[in-house]
Amino acid sequence: MKWPPSTELQFLKGVGPKYADFLRKKGLYDFKDLVEFYPRTYQDLSYNKKIADLTDGETASLRLTVAGLKQQRISKFKSISSIILTDGKDTLEAKYFKSPYRGYFNQFEKGGKVQVSGKVGFYKNTYQIVHPEINFLKEENDGTDKNTPEELQKALPKTGILPVYSESDGLTQKKIHALIKNVFKNLQDEFSQTGNVTNPWLYPLVPKIIADHYKLTDRWKAIRELHFPPADADIKTYTEGRTRAHLTLIFEELFILELLTALRKEDYTKASVTPFKENRKHLDEFLKTLPFKLTNDQLKSLNDIKEDFERGSPMHRLVQGDVGSGKTLVALASAYAAIKNGKQVAIMAPTEILALQHLENVKKFLEPLGIKATCLTGKAKEPERLEIDQQLMSGELQLLVGTHALFEDRVQFNDLAFVIVDEQHRFGVHQRQKLKNKGTHPHFLVMTATPIPRTLTMTVYGDLDVSLIEEMPPGRTPIKTKKFFQNEREKAVVAVQEELEKGRQAYFVFPLVEESESLDLKSAQFEFEELTKHFKDFNVGLLHGRMKSQEKEEVMEAFRQNKIQVLVSTTVIEVGVDVANATVMVIENCERFGLSQLHQLRGRVGRGEHPGKCFLILGNKFSQISKHRAEVMERTTNGFTIAEEDLQLRGPGEVLGSRQSGLPAFKMADLLKHQKILIEARKAAFRWVQNPKSREHIKEIKRLYQHKLELVNIS
Ligand code: ADP
Ligand code: MG
Repeated sequence: MKWPPSTELQFLKGVGPKYADFLRKKGLYDFKDLVEFYPRTYQDLSYNKKIADLTDGETASLRLTVAGLKQQRISKFKSISSIILTDGKDTLEAKYFKSPYRGYFNQFEKGGKVQVSGKVGFYKNTYQIVHPEINFLKEENDGTDKNTPEELQKALPKTGILPVYSESDGLTQKKIHALIKNVFKNLQDEFSQTGNVTNPWLYPLVPKIIADHYKLTDRWKAIRELHFPPADADIKTYTEGRTRAHLTLIFEELFILELLTALRKEDYTKASVTPFKENRKHLDEFLKTLPFKLTNDQLKSLNDIKEDFERGSPMHRLVQGDVGSGKTLVALASAYAAIKNGKQVAIMAPTEILALQHLENVKKFLEPLGIKATCLTGKAKEPERLEIDQQLMSGELQLLVGTHALFEDRVQFNDLAFVIVDEQHRFGVHQRQKLKNKGTHPHFLVMTATPIPRTLTMTVYGDLDVSLIEEMPPGRTPIKTKKFFQNEREKAVVAVQEELEKGRQAYFVFPLVEESESLDLKSAQFEFEELTKHFKDFNVGLLHGRMKSQEKEEVMEAFRQNKIQVLVSTTVIEVGVDVANATVMVIENCERFGLSQLHQLRGRVGRGEHPGKCFLILGNKFSQISKHRAEVMERTTNGFTIAEEDLQLRGPGEVLGSRQSGLPAFKMADLLKHQKILIEARKAAFRWVQNPKSREHIKEIKRLYQHKLELVNIS
């Protein structure tokens, strides 16, 4: 994108080095940023309450006259400043504990008219608004003192909707308004001079036929209307973000996201590969060796994969299911079919512990069928490594399980045709790509035990086909979960003791490693010592993030071998660790964990024949929300239900974290609020890429969003 969007803001009228600095602190660098700095809310200028009508706690907006300033020193360095405002009858104080900027108060002159908005408080017999939003109103009268409400009313603009921006140090409403006006004036001039239609503001990002269908407006018009609402605009639709201008920009953001997704998906699927043969036979051969039957969901996922194998284009599939739902088994079965087709398979795990666990499964289920497999981690020593390299290149080694070491250049396959990635969000896009590049268009399967709310799956994994495993293998008793308040903690410890005496093992999980006084958190270290004293007849081990990986593995191994019965740990055990004899988990300070995290942790127990128990201990300070979270955990063990609840509680930004999801930060759209629009945008985008008329438009979109096509790449 060239000018005008990239013109730096310091070249805008009204912005000197000082303001450029303030703007940069807000993340606003160039014209485009400022134009897309949309109002936070809107204020109705026609609304005019009297001070006497106010109630404590309400959010109000009033037009008042400045009656004077007051300063109250509260310490040597601090003072409270107030602007005394009046409606001619009563007074209200606009109170500041900190001056927004130096000289702020100088602009208030006695008799000046302002619109003041904010949350009203009643303090020492006076109405006040702390750190209000203040807008100066232009006087249209002769300036003589007319302080009766009626006179004041006449002096003000009759009606209108005022955009309210998020202020920050040095940037007042007034200043932002002025800058926005300037930037629009500037651009309007430029546009009319050059008629530059490939300017991304003027170029219709949503093709006309789709825009018309959804009754969207022209995008530049929409942007303008957000900053300069028309005189007849309805304040309610504006504050609720439901105007056509809002809809246009929301739709557009989601449409672009989905269009990029559709293009990426098209990119994967257009490659052609030789379909695997006799998959049914191979799969049956594998399944016959199992001591149990697959669940319906497992069979369904396996069938999805089989169909992908036979399609002639690379698979791009996500298998989503709770810990223990049997994803690994589905992966192994399909790996077997691939190997029987003479291909090689790579299984990628985020940690060494998990890689070894996968290897164990491979040994158990695939080696008896004559498959040659091994594991490659960063620790592999030279003579062995060389052997692995050679056997991979010759094709003798059919399956390689490993960690990040698999990405290394020296790892070369003879014919890698199937890549399986466990817990995908731990890997970067480029790493995954690197692995895929070791084969020619290998089939790609991602397994994740982090259930994403159904409503978000489409967005986060928009370019993957999804198979869900919701059903748990039979014979599992769901984990029983119970919350305890701090003063009931002893009960939980007693229950753990009972489990230990039955020969079971236990986890104690802590949020932090070291004591943090301010947060009143227990430290794993301290508790480790306490529990060592308490469980005299058992061995207690400690595992935390600051330990070297060698030490961690030793502790983990000891726990697996039941040399340690109680494992005190921070969240390092979060991913996929599988110790069947561990049946009870105590999560201390559970208010510090998110719902999905609690669910992930809890999945570690009750993986064997014995039912699992999970005790959630609330710390001394917890919010209603964290108590609610604990109750959700007591109520359900379904990861998808929990993910939905988590989404409601924390919102999509928090649940996904834009960094790990690769989702762009939206300016207007909200994945939770605008789901219906999202669904429509997705439908439209996926249909559009199939439309022969889309070529020109898509070429332009690719040009404008090239950077995002790579960046937002989710798999
Ligand atoms: P995930 O990878 O989803 O966490 P796994 O595939 O590791 O789950 O399965 C968890 C455990 O359940 C393993 O011990 C596995 O052998 C066993 N298992 C998997 N599928 C079934 C099934 N259909 N019936 C009984 N046990 C199963
Ligand atoms: Mg697993």
